[in-house]
Amino acid sequence: MRIAILSANPNLYSTQRLLEAANQRGHEGVLINHLNCQVMIEGGKPTVLYEGQELDSFDAIVPRIGASVTDYGCAVVRQFEMMNVFTTGKSQAIMRSRNKLRSLQVLSKAGVGLPKTIFANHPKNGDVTQLIKLVGGPPVVIKLLEGTQGIGVVLAETTKAAKSTIEAFYGLKKHVLVQEFVAEAKGSDIRAFVVGGRVVGAIKRQGLEGEFRSNIHRGGNAMTVTLTPDEEQTAVAAARALGLKVAGVDMLPSDRGPLVLEVNSSPGLEGIEKATGVDIAAEIIAYIEEKIRTDEGDTVGV
Ligand code: ADP
Repeated sequence: MRIAILSANPNLYSTQRLLEAANQRGHEGVLINHLNCQVMIEGGKPTVLYEGQELDSFDAIVPRIGASVTDYGCAVVRQFEMMNVFTTGKSQAIMRSRNKLRSLQVLSKAGVGLPKTIFANHPKNGDVTQLIKLVGGPPVVIKLLEGTQGIGVVLAETTKAAKSTIEAFYGLKKHVLVQEFVAEAKGSDIRAFVVGGRVVGAIKRQGLEGEFRSNIHRGGNAMTVTLTPDEEQTAVAAARALGLKVAGVDMLPSDRGPLVLEVNSSPGLEGIEKATGVDIAAEIIAYIEEKIRTDEGDTVGV
């Protein structure tokens, strides 16, 4: 098979590993930088151009779209969908996963465990206190809708701190989510890597001493973990609800079971492969093989 890895950065561990796994399994893995692709639109012939030339056909694509180029990257992925090329992540599912509020709304309907969260339009003074009360705080967590790597996630320990933080974000014309603080997580979270409706590896990330955010980018470290059946089911249900065949599901352990924070549509491979020893890249390629072999491409629609 010809498998395109859509990535803007050839040097990333994840990009390299996916190319390697495709080639090791007897396919032709090709790196395509989606930022150098052009979408050619004409009646009846959707085409992707690469640096001005029409791209040869691919059997499958593995989109690795960075958060800063979601719209452009998804336009390219959508064009491959129009050409009936199998994708491990549909454009609509990637778009959905990039907005924390939209994701939480979909997950909530699917019955997945979530921290209590509220989203409201610029509240007046008194209403801010009301918002904080509604999620059982303080302490509460305040999040920018489109933050990543823990940037734009603030823990406010008191109503006073929460009020001034919310007001500061509103002053900058940024919408925020106000969320219940899950203290039981103790600065750790769980990342479950789901491929084709199955958890293929999981890690527990622990934040630095005194840090409530466990993101590796914030200095957190990762170790392999065995999920409880509840955690495993929650991860699979969350990926399914968002329509992602390859997903990194972040969960907080809590007294009332696992609570999903977000579902990542281009989850990094480095932390999880190194901590678990699982060849996650090979799992992704094997999933493509299986889907194409059984002709369950599911390539239609966006
Ligand atoms: P990002 O998408 O920027 O990583 P997250 O919503 O995943 O933002 O939050 C970053 C980290 O902060 C999480 O991995 C978790 O460790 C911590 N965290 C986020 N929300 C909560 C919460 N409601 N209660 C406790 N810790 C939280």
